[in-house]
Amino acid sequence: MTQPFSYAGSPARIIFAEGARSQVGQWIEKAGCRRALVLSTPQQRADAEALAREIGKLACGVFSGATMHTPVDVTEAAVKVAAETLADCVVSLGGGSTTGLGKAIAYRTDLLQIVVPTTYAGSEVTPILGQTEAGRKTTIRDAKILPEVVIYDPALTLGLPVAMSITSGLNAMAHAMEGLYAQDRNPISTLMALEGLRALARSLPEIVNAPRDVKARSDALYGAWLCGTVLGTVGMALHHKICHTLGGSFDTPHAETHAVMLPHTVAFNATAAAAELAPAAEIFGGSIGGGLWDFAKAIGAPLSLKEFGLSEADLDRAASISVENPYWNPRPIDKTSIRSLLQDAFEGRRPT
Ligand code: NAD
Repeated sequence: MTQPFSYAGSPARIIFAEGARSQVGQWIEKAGCRRALVLSTPQQRADAEALAREIGKLACGVFSGATMHTPVDVTEAAVKVAAETLADCVVSLGGGSTTGLGKAIAYRTDLLQIVVPTTYAGSEVTPILGQTEAGRKTTIRDAKILPEVVIYDPALTLGLPVAMSITSGLNAMAHAMEGLYAQDRNPISTLMALEGLRALARSLPEIVNAPRDVKARSDALYGAWLCGTVLGTVGMALHHKICHTLGGSFDTPHAETHAVMLPHTVAFNATAAAAELAPAAEIFGGSIGGGLWDFAKAIGAPLSLKEFGLSEADLDRAASISVENPYWNPRPIDKTSIRSLLQDAFEGRRPT
């Protein structure tokens, strides 16, 4: 029997095509804008400048100060540049960090956002902004934060280093996995989650073998869009809580932390959400935790928290924080069970 649900489609416009970056100018005009501030990290500045040249007179400048965790002082500097250059929209070229900066600007100014993603993080299709001030991370959910236009061009991901492709892909998969058992899931989010998982499960091994294979890159980006949309639609649970705790309090790297934790958190939840996870388990050979861990190992993903320089004392504190103000989770949690799950992830053990 179909379980009761409530569903609202995302208002965002999604464009997906190889070479779609050439449509950025067209979409700026279609949105009624004339002055775009192009955003990037310092590492992608040259790409942002090239995109600004392509956009021509519709570009009013480049701000390349985007960085991890969306610090408020960087946002304030970017808002100032947007005002000085009379920008009426931002074009965020990059991964979750650059998208985060665009969202933070839009949240403060209501400028229109066009995002051109170059990783699989999925932030471009969510109304969620995580930002930091004085070392504290806060998360805001607001309709103003959801980017209006997303232009996916697989060609822009050809150079995403293999290691980052793997961890970013597993980060995307985490959104879909938790979407499968989300309390507020709906039939569309479930379809998207499974299709996204399938796309990434087949494309990531192909990317490892041939990083510049456009077909595999296209498949992975398609999967990332689906998984990101699930993240933007339904609530996340224990896995995201633990990753936010580790990233927020111990500064572990974002995508890598998701990659290490996912087999452990889904294995933990499998006993309480067996039916919901069954189609995902099938994708990974029958056992969700062990199968996913085998998959991650085969593609060369990081497997243990030890690799991030955490100590066992950190795990005690992480377990305490993770059970404080917990997100809803299909399986009840307590400090002892989370501490033991973290120990398994720390050691890099294969979950059963
Ligand atoms: P990132 O944006 O921090 O990128 C990491 C590095 O890779 C940067 O230096 C970037 O310039 C570079 N890079 C990006 N694409 C590249 C490419 N194609 N080729 C070469 N280099 C490239 O990493 P990320 O994993 O995409 O994003 C992580 C951040 O996004 C975290 O802060 C996380 O909290 C946030 N996030 C937010 C949401 C949300 O819904 N709010 C969702 C997912 C992630």
